[in-house]
Amino acid sequence: MEKKQMIYNKLLNLVKEENVKVDEPLKDHLYTKLGGNADFFITPTSYEEIQNVVKLSNEDEIPFTLLGNGSNLIIKDGGIRGIVINLKHLNAIHADEEMVTAQSGARIIDASRFALEKHLAGLEFACGIPGTVGGALYMNAGAYGGEIKDVLDHAYVVDKEGRLVKRMASELDLDYRTSNIPDRGDIVVEACFRLTPGTREEIKEMMDDLTFKRESKQPLEYPSCGSVFKRPPGYFAGKLIQDSNLQGTNIGGAEVSTKHAGFIVNKDNASTTDYISLIEHVQKTVKEKFGVDLEREVRIIGEDKE
Ligand SMILES: Cc1cc2nc3c(=O)[nH]c(=O)nc-3n(C[C@H](O)[C@H](O)[C@H](O)COP(=O)(O)OP(=O)(O)OC[C@H]3O[C@@H](n4cnc5c(N)ncnc54)[C@H](O)[C@@H]3O)c2cc1C
Repeated sequence: MEKKQMIYNKLLNLVKEENVKVDEPLKDHLYTKLGGNADFFITPTSYEEIQNVVKLSNEDEIPFTLLGNGSNLIIKDGGIRGIVINLKHLNAIHADEEMVTAQSGARIIDASRFALEKHLAGLEFACGIPGTVGGALYMNAGAYGGEIKDVLDHAYVVDKEGRLVKRMASELDLDYRTSNIPDRGDIVVEACFRLTPGTREEIKEMMDDLTFKRESKQPLEYPSCGSVFKRPPGYFAGKLIQDSNLQGTNIGGAEVSTKHAGFIVNKDNASTTDYISLIEHVQKTVKEKFGVDLEREVRIIGEDKE
């Protein structure tokens, strides 16, 4: 039997048929609207299903990749070999006194709104970050002075052996837009945030203020992957790009945003190659002009197109 058919049959034993797709176009799942296909795209409905898929991946040496909301990823035009796991069905959120627990497929925006309705403060900073809870932990997402590290108490992960394990926040090495989740090969399945009681009015006012700032500064009218670069120590990436006169520069359909220099937007049917070439052009120009290395915040994964 052909290997692909064999893997498909094995996946059907572990995950419901309607939740296993073959040759799925990933551009439909990414904020940039770019990228090739996944050999297999699965959307498990329980932690046990995830554990079984990890065990299958180990036994049969099939690579797997987690995909959250696709808001911090560029996937190359050749797509992703093996299994892409998306946890959109695992999106429950609940509160127990001052703790808010969210499954990792929930949007962090929804966790932030849920906390508001429970009059719990601490997740306001996340009210406009368009990722999932899992993606937010992976990146230690943050905005306007707040970050996941400030509020995370613990998480549950499926580790690389397929075991369900509790990890305290201090074990995740959360730092500026980074964690040890990729090094460990963990899949985040649940996060528990420790918040503080507040008033609905104050929490709402802060969220409205941050939303106003975000909408007035960011080019949300175009597909993008948010800020492309991390903040280099002592500088602001956007300011360096602006001062290098790069705003409006384009390669193919990808353009350095004229509204926010830290964003690269997919203005007109860009390919991933356009996007990556423009990122490299920005890095080279800023290095030449200011001697500063811009490190990417956005992750680039997948295969080149043959
Ligand atoms: C318009 C816009 C504005 C943005 N603003 C901000 C901002 O203010 N602050 C900020 O920090 N970011 C911002 N971002 C970037 C992005 O939203 C965050 O990095 C977010 O945390 C990514 O989550 P995601 O679910 O989209 O992850 P994805 O992009 O799908 O994946 C990112 C990485 O996380 C991994 N991953 C995803 N889920 C899991 C899981 N369950 N377990 C293990 N690994 C996982 C993926 O494999 C991948 O390597 C912005 C993006 C856009 C498009």
